[in-house]
Amino acid sequence: MPQVQLSVVVPCFNESEVIDAFHTALSTALEPTGDRFEICYVDDGSSDGTAERLRAIAASAPEVRYTSFSRNFGKEAALLAGMRMSRGAAVVLMDADLQHPPELVPRMLELHRHGYDQVVARRDRTGEGALRSALSRAYYRLVRHFMDVEIADGAGDFRLLSRRAVDAVLSLPESNRFSKGLFSWIGFDTVSFPYRNVRRAAGRSKWGGRRLLEYGIDGLLSFNTRPLRLAIHTGLWLFLSALGYALWIIANAVLNGVDTPGYATLITAIVGLGGVQLATLGVIGEYVGRIYHEAKRRPSYVVRETDASAPHHSGALS
Ligand code: UDP
Ligand code: MG
Repeated sequence: MPQVQLSVVVPCFNESEVIDAFHTALSTALEPTGDRFEICYVDDGSSDGTAERLRAIAASAPEVRYTSFSRNFGKEAALLAGMRMSRGAAVVLMDADLQHPPELVPRMLELHRHGYDQVVARRDRTGEGALRSALSRAYYRLVRHFMDVEIADGAGDFRLLSRRAVDAVLSLPESNRFSKGLFSWIGFDTVSFPYRNVRRAAGRSKWGGRRLLEYGIDGLLSFNTRPLRLAIHTGLWLFLSALGYALWIIANAVLNGVDTPGYATLITAIVGLGGVQLATLGVIGEYVGRIYHEAKRRPSYVVRETDASAPHHSGALS
């Protein structure tokens, strides 16, 4: 088996409208490099015939391999399957919708040759809605504040990883995966360069507001237990102020004979504390849920089919 220099991992969910154009663009970008490359497509349970397109592409091009999931398991699972499939000395992860320009891959390879284990292409936010862009900026500020790992604004999943970096990511056993954090957690020499944001070529984004919110919560909670600490601090602080307030009322009543009408303060205190308690319970519940989820040790995905030439690793955690 000749050594594959580069594997390109592409998660695809309902991308039948762009997948052919993507494949052509990627092949055009990679062929002049003269490197021996392979493309690992992962169909994440698409329902629009993406799997059929991938099968056809794989049949006509020996460097293409694919895996198809039994249902939609999410992009994180697809990336994981693609990395497990990959055999290259370097692995590039990129989207299928041409928002990650294939012409940047040779540049990433170049930087990798200069000794970097991770090369990150950071998109700027041109053409993005003002609200979305402001929200994501705020989110990344929050993440930087709360997490032990560093995530640059605009650093998505478009990146190159060396073989040892990929092996490091694959050695992390958690099934609740937040790749951006994992990539940062493994360390190694990392370099990043910006590129101009482009709109997706066809089809539509799978990340609505709700999905982004869930992803955001995942990101905040999957790296440390600092939100729990925050809950404790808030609780303690509230308790002390309540105590102070109670003492003040008692002192007022005893020393000055002031009669405080009680129900307004009571209701405020009950509602306020109830809110804090609910939020805290929610935070704890999230962690417990995660423990439950990890304890089941379910694989991140189930494979429906994969092309025969691929020595396939199962989705099961080892
Ligand atoms: N994707 C996936 N599974 C999903 C959602 C998305 O494999 O459940 C893939 C999708 O096909 C694309 C990439 O992840 O290649 C990024 O998705 P999308 O373009 O919808 O996200 P956006 O660019 O809007 O953040
Ligand atoms: Mg996209």
